[in-house]
Amino acid sequence: MRRPPRIITCVCCGQQGPSQGRGLIRACYQRHRSTGVLDRFPMLGKPPVQAGKAAREARLARLEDYADLLAWGASWKEAAARVGVCRRTAERYNAALRTLESESPERKSA
Ligand SMILES: [Zn+2]
Repeated sequence: MRRPPRIITCVCCGQQGPSQGRGLIRACYQRHRSTGVLDRFPMLGKPPVQAGKAAREARLARLEDYADLLAWGASWKEAAARVGVCRRTAERYNAALRTLESESPERKSA
């Protein structure tokens, strides 16, 4: 469940708008993120760890399901449809799985 954004005064330009994080309004947050200078604006307060963790676990579970379907001989299109993700996400999964394969079975430990 997502709360509606608070209306704040942006720390960078003083304009009022919906809060996106780091004391920035949405337009500024996205502008700073796209230009790569978001780090200039420190995060305020604690991040909502639990929410992020749950989403990450759900994503990981979907990726595992997707990998299983592929292992069972499904095409990536079938696997994507079964897991309920779009083509774009399936491509990310494919890339993630390739990365995992290249790192496994044993990571270099020195
Ligand atoms: Zn601003």
